[in-house]
Amino acid sequence: MSSAYTADVVVMGGGIVGAACAYYLCREGLAVHLVEREFPGAGTSRAGNGLILQWPKEPGPLLELARQSAALWAELSERLGESFDYRRNGCLVVAQSEGEWEAVQKRATLLAEWGIWGQQVEGRELTTWEPHLAPDLAGGIFFPGEAQLDPRKATWALLRAAQRRGLKVHFATAVRGFERGRDGSLRGVRTAQGCLATRRALLAAGVWSGEIAALAGVQLPICPRKGQVIVTERAPGFLSCPLLEAGYGQFPAERGQLQVALVAEPTAGGNLLIGSSREFVGFDRRVSLRVLQAVAARARRFLPSLAKLQILRSYAGLRPFSPDGRPLIGPVPEVPGLYVATGHEGSGICLAPITGRLLAQWVTKQPLSVAPEPFDPARTSLAGE
Ligand SMILES: Cc1cc2nc3c(=O)[nH]c(=O)nc-3n(C[C@H](O)[C@H](O)[C@H](O)COP(=O)(O)OP(=O)(O)OC[C@H]3O[C@@H](n4cnc5c(N)ncnc54)[C@H](O)[C@@H]3O)c2cc1C
Repeated sequence: MSSAYTADVVVMGGGIVGAACAYYLCREGLAVHLVEREFPGAGTSRAGNGLILQWPKEPGPLLELARQSAALWAELSERLGESFDYRRNGCLVVAQSEGEWEAVQKRATLLAEWGIWGQQVEGRELTTWEPHLAPDLAGGIFFPGEAQLDPRKATWALLRAAQRRGLKVHFATAVRGFERGRDGSLRGVRTAQGCLATRRALLAAGVWSGEIAALAGVQLPICPRKGQVIVTERAPGFLSCPLLEAGYGQFPAERGQLQVALVAEPTAGGNLLIGSSREFVGFDRRVSLRVLQAVAARARRFLPSLAKLQILRSYAGLRPFSPDGRPLIGPVPEVPGLYVATGHEGSGICLAPITGRLLAQWVTKQPLSVAPEPFDPARTSLAGE
């Protein structure tokens, strides 16, 4: 690539998606700069759970993406040279009613065709698996291949591995605009600290991607969908693996309505992360008592003895929601040289490695690991849903 340019690629945004993209671009031997307004993980990547889940993804392109990404996380846990608490403990999905139980069994049969195997657990056996579960649940499926990690540690691990391959990171540096050639193609990224000359830039700024894209005259249909999590005191052994209710992952994109479904994730440190909520309330990242109470009540329905644990803190983050439920990964046709990697909603931790790998393949013109059309940033299904 041209040596007249400071960077072969400038990555905008230092969340887990930007970090993964920087890592895979550096692995291709490219000169990469990453520009982050605050610090790594300052956006949504420090405000989520750390679940690498395949079972809630719709069989099709999204599940394929998740399947490849889960395999990449396993590889990265060996390769990055530092721990990010990656654990493959599986996860248990529980159903309240017979109807839900039937639906989740059907899903498990479908997933088995994709090589994602789940073990059925009858309702009466559930408390043998997890003694703190309510005794009246209809049944569950244990998916042994699911994994979890600490997203903050993983973001740093990716960045440090990329830095060892030459990545230059600019913290506390906000993107302010773009330099364009006469033909409209990219010539540089303007930041609060000066201009980085480049012919390629990758927009990975999560829910803030829309405002940066607008600086190049591009409209991205990404909007924030807020989620809130409760952190309990340490309770080692309370759960043997992450627990989710069957309704998790089937959130209709309804505005003006708070949606809550149980996720309970035991961390490597022994605390429990209890979630989770979904609501469209703009860019407000403040913790709400109303949501905390709703999340706690939902969790106690499934795990009554949670009421005995102390709440240490609660935090909220903004999922980058895309109108058709699929992320935007690939080149932006209006601005030659500009790529985008955002819109992962509640799966950005899970999908970060495959996103990074795909972007590196796009930039270096290699064959893509996944068919790109369902994730094309210019696809028609993004409009008007
Ligand atoms: C409650 C909750 C639970 C979740 N649980 C899971 C889970 O279990 N599994 C999973 O896979 N996903 C989960 N997610 C989703 C996941 O956290 C997100 O999809 C993911 O973190 C998005 O990462 P990102 O890098 O795209 O965005 P971010 O992490 O938000 O990174 C974007 C970065 O861009 C920076 N930025 C913004 N503007 C500028 C600018 N002008 N210049 C430079 N930099 C800029 C920001 O400071 C930020 O650091 C959860 C989310 C929430 C809220």
